[in-house]
Amino acid sequence: MKFIDLTKRTEIGANSYYLEMGRHRVVLDSGMHPKDTGEDALPLFKAIADREIEAILISHAHQDHIGTLALAMRRFPGARVFMTDTTAEVGSVLLHNSVNVMTRQREEIGEMSYPLFTHREIDRASERWRSCPLRQQISIAGERAPRRDKDALTFEFFDAGHVLGSTGVMLRAQGQTVFYTGDVNFDDQTIMQAAGFPEDKIDVLIMECTRGDHAKPDDWSRASEEQRLAEALRRAFERDACVLIPVFALGKTQEILAMLYKFRRQRLLPEFPIYIGGLSSKFTDIYDRRAHTTRRQLARLKLMREVAPFILNDETVRDAPVRGGRVYVLSSGMMIPKTLSSVFARRIIENPQHSIFFVGYANPESPAGLLRDAGTDGEVALDLDKPPQRIRCNIEQFQFSAHATRESLVAYARKISPKKILLVHGDPSAVEWMRGILSKELPSSEVIVPPPGVELDL
Ligand SMILES: [Zn+2]
Ligand SMILES: [Zn+2]
Repeated sequence: MKFIDLTKRTEIGANSYYLEMGRHRVVLDSGMHPKDTGEDALPLFKAIADREIEAILISHAHQDHIGTLALAMRRFPGARVFMTDTTAEVGSVLLHNSVNVMTRQREEIGEMSYPLFTHREIDRASERWRSCPLRQQISIAGERAPRRDKDALTFEFFDAGHVLGSTGVMLRAQGQTVFYTGDVNFDDQTIMQAAGFPEDKIDVLIMECTRGDHAKPDDWSRASEEQRLAEALRRAFERDACVLIPVFALGKTQEILAMLYKFRRQRLLPEFPIYIGGLSSKFTDIYDRRAHTTRRQLARLKLMREVAPFILNDETVRDAPVRGGRVYVLSSGMMIPKTLSSVFARRIIENPQHSIFFVGYANPESPAGLLRDAGTDGEVALDLDKPPQRIRCNIEQFQFSAHATRESLVAYARKISPKKILLVHGDPSAVEWMRGILSKELPSSEVIVPPPGVELDL
């Protein structure tokens, strides 16, 4: 068995992994770096340039897992592409949006290689995606009832509880099993249900480490954190503040909308206007349309109808009047320059009346990370084209991560007790903490932090 981490650094970037089991060669995920641009934003496909790839398996439709799929398909034209049907629907919306973003960036940052792919290429590529149900073994040739050939490779998707359509992937060949967690959450969120992962024998576990550098506070519970958010919103409304909540368009937007719905229904807060962006509204529509056919909570809740958010676009976010008592749930979560959350934040950041609430992961070097860490009275340049601004608004933080706590990742690894554990998808400090604890608690497992681009013989 062979493995190459195609992610450029130990980080949450352009996540992609090469796996060879017997005569079979597959690629797991094909992400684009959420912050870097141009060549820096791509996986290390060069490390597998001369190899024939049979299949590309996509765990979920976040940019850092699916963003370069069109490029991978161009490079490996013979590869079959598999994902859940929900991920296919979400992924197509995300990649079309990515073409628009890159086309704009070509002008804004002068990245002449952009757009890296076109709308037409996404249309053609998505016709070749094969959608797979959860918990069904499928052969790498795409057969639902694979023949019992012991050398054949099969895969099976398991619900990862992270965002709509997200999965972990089990691969089996030659009596060996590899399980890739993708991005996972072992706890219920407000909409998503906890992951339903396999607990049988796994030889090699490829595990995400996003929250490896954050201990779960003893008194934290999702319910009490929701109460704390409702309370903070009530206080903000009392001083006639508007509240910006920067979020990922897929996942966190819908979780926050569901919380706001609950707050209104429980009469914790009065009616108040809510704003989201156009891309977020497309993903929210998919959550609503699939409410009855996906594993989730509040299955009858149709967010677009019940919460009825107003939609902002690139133009209206610049001049819509900023009024107290309104909540702006805008992407991007990392506040990448020129996105809705970045443009809107620049408008309110110097005004002590208003608030910005952070609700999930932000890379510490991203604008959201810099703003969060600088805090009130600090200074931040959200857009390098513009002068830095003094932070006068109120900044608060809440913990609604869509990722597993490090404690639950360790518990899962202990339950499975695999022969080898490969640690991926984490900042160096996060991966290092996981390596330390797993080496201690699972002395019979080999714990490996795969060096980028290097072939490991497992
Ligand atoms: Zn994700
Ligand atoms: Zn991810």
